[in-house]
Amino acid sequence: MPRIAIAGFQHETNTFSPTPTGWKEFCMADSWPGLLQGPKVIDGTRGMNLPIAGAIEAARASGQPIELIPILWCAAEPGGAVTDEAFERISGMILEGIAGAGALDAIYLDLHGAMVTESLDDGEAELLARIRRITGSGMPIGISLDLHANLSPDFVENAGPITIFRSYPHLDMADTGARCMIEILKRLNGAPQFAAFEQIPFLVPLHAQNTGIEPCRTLYRSLDELPASPDEYADIAMGFTAADVPNCGPSIVAYAKTRARAEALARDLFERFCACEGKFDTALFSADEAVHRAISMQGSGPAVLADVQDNPGAGASADTTGLLRALVDGGAQRASTGKEPGFIRALLGTMHDRKIAVDAHAAGTGVIFSGELGGKSGIAGDGPFIGRFEVRALSEGRIPYTGEMYRGGIAQIGPSALLSVEGAKREILVVVSSERTQCLDLALFTHFGVDPFEFDIVCVKSTVHFRADFEAGSRAILNVAAPGLFSCEPEKQTFRRLRKGVRIGSCGKA
Ligand SMILES: [Zn+2]
Repeated sequence: MPRIAIAGFQHETNTFSPTPTGWKEFCMADSWPGLLQGPKVIDGTRGMNLPIAGAIEAARASGQPIELIPILWCAAEPGGAVTDEAFERISGMILEGIAGAGALDAIYLDLHGAMVTESLDDGEAELLARIRRITGSGMPIGISLDLHANLSPDFVENAGPITIFRSYPHLDMADTGARCMIEILKRLNGAPQFAAFEQIPFLVPLHAQNTGIEPCRTLYRSLDELPASPDEYADIAMGFTAADVPNCGPSIVAYAKTRARAEALARDLFERFCACEGKFDTALFSADEAVHRAISMQGSGPAVLADVQDNPGAGASADTTGLLRALVDGGAQRASTGKEPGFIRALLGTMHDRKIAVDAHAAGTGVIFSGELGGKSGIAGDGPFIGRFEVRALSEGRIPYTGEMYRGGIAQIGPSALLSVEGAKREILVVVSSERTQCLDLALFTHFGVDPFEFDIVCVKSTVHFRADFEAGSRAILNVAAPGLFSCEPEKQTFRRLRKGVRIGSCGKA
């Protein structure tokens, strides 16, 4: 009976964020469970759209007798560099588990692929190298990765088989873990697999990586069309641009029965990807322009304004106030009619401000209080919104997700509140949380008793993931460039450590 150790250690590191990610962040539950060990890895992830849950289910569904040895699984909200202490402690636990598991036939790892630590440009490559020192070179180490992985040749050399999410929004996380387990089992059953790897020489901003639109839609469709047999496959990582490391950027992995075939497959995809340079939709609106357009726009359903640069899911602080200010007094004065067509109702989430959330709880529902909302992260061009707020609803912040992406999960955002901004000429409601959380699921609003589809404007601190829940039924979606720790214009960011020749700012329309 094959014995397969399974473990997970996920982080997407924004090297431009000043806030380090420590042991505590990996232990706490957020949108996903806190750190799990031993059999709890299986019980604590069952039914969730998580790669490791899909891998476990695929092993069971294979019908083969397989012994899984669960070691550890953890993930932290994207943020600044992983502390050396957290990396050493968690890696040490995984290595101990593997070394103590007895004879193994394979290992499955649920990694993100964009972990940077205080001392390492590529945390996962180091973890993998240490695992290889225990296992030697022959054993399959199957790894499923996020679409936003920044892959290095060393990592790909030591890993295999690798599978990568094929959708952004990530609706196929569990499926990608399942694909990886199936590929591991194929190897254990004797299928030889050769790998090929290519790195794309330009960066693609996060908001242009939406796989629901061109050119990504066609590019990802080719992953189904190109393989000539079930013995070969390829995957694409779009990369995570908020990482000033040599291997930042998109890449391609391909596997086949012969090295020549794997290389041909990777090369074909490389050429298709490179042919897309200049064709990505990188358009961004200023906050004022977006509000103005949203107000002037005909149609039904809300205009959804994506605060793409303040997405905590990309390591941002989720507390900038640029879009909130535009809702309060921006946009309308430049409307072509000269006045607003009607009373505007706007909803914004999820603003991270523990103090205001706690103050709202102290005040109580229906009470109006004064405060400084958000803008406390010291981000250039941003600051708190000083005003008076009515407490409309309160919650302890355990919110079951209702959307597909985080199905089975619970958003744990701590004491939280729905506030109304007093004295504004429009109705503006803001969901405030104690923990950073990406506003990608309708439940983050409906939990507080409001239906986003009844508003004229909905502002979300998310880049693309929100589309899975919000796009259908919306009037339009506008990407907004307001202050934030995740730059969607990498050409305006100072990179010092990219590998030579990587082009920045070349992927969009001229
Ligand atoms: Zn991702």
